[in-house]
Amino acid sequence: LGNQAKAAMNAGDLVSDDLIMGIMAERLKEDDCKAGYLLDGFPRTIPQAEALKVMLAEMGETLDCAVEIDVARDVILDRLTTRRTCSGCGEIYNVKSNPPAVEGKCDKCGEPVVQRDDETEEAISNRLNVYNDQTAPLVGFYKNEGLLLS
Ligand SMILES: [Zn+2]
Repeated sequence: LGNQAKAAMNAGDLVSDDLIMGIMAERLKEDDCKAGYLLDGFPRTIPQAEALKVMLAEMGETLDCAVEIDVARDVILDRLTTRRTCSGCGEIYNVKSNPPAVEGKCDKCGEPVVQRDDETEEAISNRLNVYNDQTAPLVGFYKNEGLLLS
């Protein structure tokens, strides 16, 4: 299922909810989830949240809580547009708070440090709009479920 998801992402397609739920079902049955787990960035939509609720019920489980991390749009934009990633080893830098010792060069491996295509102001702005449209409604969903901590 992971390979199917990777193929979809490499083709620039969205990964379908069915595929995501299949991956989640497999992952949550692994031994390291027996004592509990934290889901970060999932679910992203109301249909995914509803499917998760059904899936957990079938496993005899429920969510303990949902947490909203509320960060102002301009703060998110500033943090992500100043982030840089090493094209060699993947080390993360920030031009303001954690720049490499030599501008544009990784401290660890010497390869170029670059801005990722999905971390330009336009790309992040698009991601935030998608978040507002599709993910922000989860706050109300989990509030209604009595699960929201904020
Ligand atoms: Zn590096």
